[in-house]
Amino acid sequence: MVKFLIGADVGATNVRIGVVTPEGEILERIEYPIDSSGKASALLEQLVSNLNDLSEQRIKRANHLIGIGVGIAGTIDLERGIVYESPNIKDLKGFRIRDFFREKISRPVVIENDANAFTLGEGWMGAAKGCQHYCGLTLGTGVGGGIVVEGRLLRGAEGLAGEVGHMVIYSEGPACGCGGRGCLEVYASGTAIRRMALEAIERGVGGGILKWVGRDLARVTSEKVFEVAQYGDIEAQEIFNEMGRYLGLGLVNLINLFNPERIVIGGKVSQAWDYFIGSVTETIRERAMEGPKERVEIVRARCGDDAGILGAAYSALSALLVT
Ligand SMILES: [Zn+2]
Repeated sequence: MVKFLIGADVGATNVRIGVVTPEGEILERIEYPIDSSGKASALLEQLVSNLNDLSEQRIKRANHLIGIGVGIAGTIDLERGIVYESPNIKDLKGFRIRDFFREKISRPVVIENDANAFTLGEGWMGAAKGCQHYCGLTLGTGVGGGIVVEGRLLRGAEGLAGEVGHMVIYSEGPACGCGGRGCLEVYASGTAIRRMALEAIERGVGGGILKWVGRDLARVTSEKVFEVAQYGDIEAQEIFNEMGRYLGLGLVNLINLFNPERIVIGGKVSQAWDYFIGSVTETIRERAMEGPKERVEIVRARCGDDAGILGAAYSALSALLVT
């Protein structure tokens, strides 16, 4: 009998769902965009209907469903199954997500934060495969992450641990969405690249970027800055260099605290890898502790868009192994 898991990744812009074997092979996958103006209830009803359809089709063919994992962008109290905050669907705040799934799906559902799911996915089938101690970072609109110690995800008292994007890098830094200041997220995300580009333009050193967006500041995005950097624009490249120095400081903290074997970096901003990794490794070489810094490898994520699906499925699989 074919055994299978279902992993769902409810990200910032898209929902991805996959049918996954216990060995980590994705047999089938669907993907659709999130209507960010829509209600959380509509999004979740659609998700449940897709999860049920995929399961039923397999079960009809005598496949055996092991479990379902769902990774969701946002801070989720895993103990009580309540969403604290979700950046993409605002009215998900306060939603009793575990009760909702229990009511609508007759199978066991494990809920996970999306960045934790990314980290577990890379650990199971990607760039941290075989590691017992590793960290994952996703550089997107914000900075998400997860920390695995002795083969297990670090969860904390309420399942909210591992928010690497909110490590404080500079006490007087720009305000962060979390209510703090100077977090890694305001230096190493797509939003941060945009801010740094606008500041550069203001200082009169972002001429190439300004030209590339037709002098329309509203069109300045991290993607545009990356494009200009690829054309050899030194000022655009310097923005990624600066981002790399701050990201390096964040990684120094992780290296000194957790002594990881690897740190896996993914997310759309990581496409600019060649433009920031130099200053990341230089900062680590200068600032991290002897010993841990020799051991750690900083690597690019390998699972692409599938990391979240795989990690959510892996969460369901490992929850089953524990109980
Ligand atoms: Zn923050």
